[in-house]
Amino acid sequence: AYNFCAGPAALPEPVLQRAREEMLDYQGTGMSVMEMSHRDDVIVHMAEKAERDLRDLLGISDDYAVLFLQGGASAQFSMVPLNLLGDAGKADYVNTGQWSTKAIQEARRFCEVNVAASSEDANFSYAPAQSEWRLSDDAAYVHYCPNETIGGLEFDFIPEVDKPLVADMSSTILSRPMDVNRFALIYAGAQKNIGPAGLTLVMVRKDLLGRAGPTVPAMLNYQIHADNGSMYNTPPTFAWYLAGLVFEWLKEQGGLQTMGEINGRKAAKLYDFIDGSDFYGNPVRPGQRSRMNVPFVLADSALDKAFLAEADAAGLRNLKGHRSVGGMRASIYNAVPEAAVDALIGFMSDFEKRKA
Ligand code: PLP
Repeated sequence: AYNFCAGPAALPEPVLQRAREEMLDYQGTGMSVMEMSHRDDVIVHMAEKAERDLRDLLGISDDYAVLFLQGGASAQFSMVPLNLLGDAGKADYVNTGQWSTKAIQEARRFCEVNVAASSEDANFSYAPAQSEWRLSDDAAYVHYCPNETIGGLEFDFIPEVDKPLVADMSSTILSRPMDVNRFALIYAGAQKNIGPAGLTLVMVRKDLLGRAGPTVPAMLNYQIHADNGSMYNTPPTFAWYLAGLVFEWLKEQGGLQTMGEINGRKAAKLYDFIDGSDFYGNPVRPGQRSRMNVPFVLADSALDKAFLAEADAAGLRNLKGHRSVGGMRASIYNAVPEAAVDALIGFMSDFEKRKA
């Protein structure tokens, strides 16, 4: 079966195999990673190796702290303002979909939010060009979501701003090379391209640490997590371990350059097929379509149920669109092989021939 789930998403088969082999006896300890103290040298080494591999993969310099946290990307919606606002009462946000909207709603608890640009009027089908952004002079930072997982919209540019740039990269991180140095802070829930749910990655420029006010809870303070190597409290050690295996696997594949080429091919052939058919459609502006999440609709939505049932029977799992938008969505993260996309296109083509 091929798993097209948007998250928790497919994990690479070799990673799962290795985790199974090591499940009961991690590195000759006679114990599972799950049973070991996070203060144990073996686990500390495992954690440090995962961080080193991640830094290698993304080219993260020592100017950044890398944090392995909990609470999902959703917790970052509040941790970002709590840690970056300082004395400023305002932040700029760009609204390009449901995840941006959630980040904005949460930030409004803490500050005035200037929505610098939005594509809501066009059903979030494009990313507003930077020339249209109305940034404020007194914002503490600028936040955007480079890849909207639900709408399937991906920015085709990295914004140039003179404030700290913050990005929710939950569904695009590690899918291709990117210049992390252009960002002040990047966060991502793990359950797409990183590992299992329960782990959240934050990369934050060190000069931005220490801005949280005295009422910010310790667990929500980046500085405290950075000072404690993300072990201020008990971290999700097993998820951290699996993420480390995913990073090793990515390096074995040839790193993000190779992943970017494969992912580019996967997305291009699926969009080409959709565009070449009147039976299927995708509403997102070409050039800004997500390489990770491909939403599509059938011209006749009365066929949705049959499509999903038959796809499932053919081993093509989790193709249902997000409950808020309906239709279909194929998430084609790193662990989804090119053969899965070929199988999906084959199925879609056959379904069209039978039902059109
Ligand atoms: N941001 C984006 C872009 C997402 O895709 C998701 C989840 O799918 C979230 C935030 C929320 O993540 P979490 O469930 O880890 O809080």
